[in-house]
Amino acid sequence: MLDEMLKKFHEVATSPRAQMDKYMKEGKEIVLTAPVYTPEEIVHSMGFVPMGAWGADIKINRAKEYCPAFLCSVVQSILELGINGTYKGAKAIIIPSLCDTLKSLGENWKYAVDGILFIPMTYPQNRKPDFGIRYTKAGYERVIRDLEKVGGKFDEAKLAKSNKIYNEHNQAMRKVDALIAKHPEITAAQRSDIFKSAYFMLKEEHTKMVNDFIAELEKETPEADKLNIITSGILTDAPQLNEIIDDLGLHIVADDVAAQSRQYRTDVPEDSDALEALARKFANMDNCSVLYNVEKPRVQWIVDTAKERGAKGVIVVMTKFCDPEEFDYVPIKKACEGAGLAVALVEVDRQMDRFEQVRTNIETFRDMLMM
Ligand code: SF4
Repeated sequence: MLDEMLKKFHEVATSPRAQMDKYMKEGKEIVLTAPVYTPEEIVHSMGFVPMGAWGADIKINRAKEYCPAFLCSVVQSILELGINGTYKGAKAIIIPSLCDTLKSLGENWKYAVDGILFIPMTYPQNRKPDFGIRYTKAGYERVIRDLEKVGGKFDEAKLAKSNKIYNEHNQAMRKVDALIAKHPEITAAQRSDIFKSAYFMLKEEHTKMVNDFIAELEKETPEADKLNIITSGILTDAPQLNEIIDDLGLHIVADDVAAQSRQYRTDVPEDSDALEALARKFANMDNCSVLYNVEKPRVQWIVDTAKERGAKGVIVVMTKFCDPEEFDYVPIKKACEGAGLAVALVEVDRQMDRFEQVRTNIETFRDMLMM
């Protein structure tokens, strides 16, 4: 039973286009949601299927005509997929303004990709004060107006319902993360599939799959311990990276990964004004390289979470040319080493096909954990 469920997560995680086609055949419309945070609840409430667009491990050709070489491969591969027709049939793409590279993606998208409307979501730098919350809400109102242009209809009561569906999904994802921490037999690759598949399914469907999986896994006796670690970064879905983590007997007991747990830490507060509540969710979010925090609490969050989950070290998976993550690396390294945690830094790129250097770095890190 568990194997079948894990197979299904893998199937969805590795076939986003098939998922798009399935929903389109059912008469549903697709709206693409780019990293790092998009108001998916709004998209969902307006009758669309939000489909994560975090790029893919592909060769970049046409996007090079628009992007300088130093833009991260996440953004370049999203544009490449837009140009080469992989997203054909989608109605729109929402691209948030959370880093400089993402800002350039939207402008390039307008010229490079036909037939898929670019919808910007401009977030405030100071998201917590009242004026920041009002700014975020105004940004969401603009997204709503743009989604109306492609046939969506906004209704406050429907948004309240979608907020609830997303909160339930957050809770399921937090629960599965904590449960996998106690089950070393769930591999890094399988864990990645569970998180990645969430981007290509309606959240109510994914919540059900995750809750069924939790119920089955809770019946199992955990297998022998491995070496506990946590991962940090933007993306850790490269199959070769997860294979190395699994080959070396490492077990991910928590993550600080933008495409994984960072998405699910904060719920929409319960409020009679559903849109205001969604803006307050964004205000309440923390501990992420693209969210402005003077004191960088993310650093302590990593140390505390590693200790709480019994991790001996942290693998920082750095997406090449990602400025926000590069800025945070030095304080993370200092804080972890100060707390007695080993740190490995590995660089990844969506175009990378050779992982020998990554393997050598993680092997050395594993040896340090065994000392
Ligand atoms: S990987 Fe880094 S630079 Fe690229 S879009 Fe994400 S946050 Fe921005």
